[in-house]
Amino acid sequence: MIGMSDLPGQFEQIRDEILAAILPVMESGAFALGPAVGSFEKEFAAYCHSKEAVGMNSGTSGLHLALLAAGIGEGDEVITVSHTFVATVAAIRYTGATPVLIDIDPDMYLMDVSLIEGAITPKTRAIIPVHLYGQPCDMDPINEIAKRRNLLVIEDAAQSHGAEYKGRRCGSLGDMAEFSFYPGKNLGAFGEGGAVTTDNAEYAEKMRIMRHWGQSKRYHHDHPGYNYRMDGIQGAVLRVKLRYIEGWTELRRERAAWYDDLLADSPYKTPAVMPDARHVYHQYVIETDRRRELQEFLTVNGIDSGIHYPIPVHLQKTYADLGYKKGDLPVTERVVERILSLPCFPELKREEVETVVDALNKFQRL
Ligand SMILES: *Cc1c(COP(=O)(O)O)cnc(C)c1O
Repeated sequence: MIGMSDLPGQFEQIRDEILAAILPVMESGAFALGPAVGSFEKEFAAYCHSKEAVGMNSGTSGLHLALLAAGIGEGDEVITVSHTFVATVAAIRYTGATPVLIDIDPDMYLMDVSLIEGAITPKTRAIIPVHLYGQPCDMDPINEIAKRRNLLVIEDAAQSHGAEYKGRRCGSLGDMAEFSFYPGKNLGAFGEGGAVTTDNAEYAEKMRIMRHWGQSKRYHHDHPGYNYRMDGIQGAVLRVKLRYIEGWTELRRERAAWYDDLLADSPYKTPAVMPDARHVYHQYVIETDRRRELQEFLTVNGIDSGIHYPIPVHLQKTYADLGYKKGDLPVTERVVERILSLPCFPELKREEVETVVDALNKFQRL
C-alpha cells in the first residue's frame, strides 16, 4: 500500500535525536510549557521571519486566541473561505463573532481576493486568508484592502510551514499567523500542537496569558483564561524536527515536481502555482470529473488518496444557522466534487510516484 504519509519512517531517521531531546523533559518534570517550549518558540519565530511565536496545544487554540487578543468577539464579523478545514471557521465561532464565507478562485483554490470588498460591512474586523495545501494566498492585495478598510489580517498557516510569498515567509505576512503541528502537518508534533506568530509584542503577551488560565501571576486570574499550553515534550520534539523541515520541504517540492512532470500531458488538472510563491505541498491535488471512480480504482491498486475537503464549511450541518445554501459559493462547490489529494511526502520513493502515475494513466484508458 502506498500511504499518504510515513510518520514511523520519519521517526526512524531522527530516533536518537528525539529520544535525547525528550529525556531531559521527563527528567526535569517540565511537562507543561517549560524551557523546551521557550526555546522552540524563539527558533520557530526566527524560522517564520517573525518576532514572536506563542506555543499552544493546537492550531485551533492558536486561532482562537489570536482573535481574542485582537479583541474580536460577539457582534463582529470575520471574512474567510469555506474551502478550508472546519477549524478555521470553528475558531471564529468560539469567540462569538460571525464567520463570513467567501468563494475561492478557480485556478489556485485560494481566497478570491476580488470578493473581499463586497463582503465587508461596518461589523467586519478581520480577514483570515487560508494558505491551503501549502500555497500562500495573494497577500499584497489582501493586506492593501485590510489597511485601507482598517481590518486585521490573521493568516491560517496550518498547512504552510516554510511557504513563501515574494520571498517572505508565511507567518510574517499579516498581523498574526496560526500554525498547526498536528502529526500529519508538514511540521508535526508527537501529538497535538500549534503556535501563533506575530511581530506585535502586545498580542503575544495577551496570548501567553490567555493560554495559561489568564494569570498575570500565579493564581491571579485577571483575564479570561484557557488551558491551551503546549506540552514540554512537544516543544522538545518540534525543536528537533525544525532542524529538518527545510530538507523535508525540498523533498516534498521535488515529489510534486515529479508529478507535475509525469502528468504534464495528462487530462488531470492541478491547482496553479503563483510564479513568486514557494509552495510547500502539504497536499498535492489533482482535479478529475470521475473522482469517486478514480479513488476506488487507486484503492484497488494499493494507492491511498484523500479529499481535502469533501463538504465545504458553508454546507456543513452545524453551520446551517449561518444561512448559506447550495449555490452560494459556486467555485468552492464545484471544486470539492472534483479534487483528489495524491500521496506526496518526504519519504515517498520515485518508483512509488511512478506507480501512482501509471495507475492514473491506466484509469484514463478505462
Ligand atoms: C489543521 C488545520 C487547522 C487546525 O489545526 P489543529 O492543530 O488541528 O487544531 C486549522 N486550519 C487548517 C487549514 C488546518 O489544516
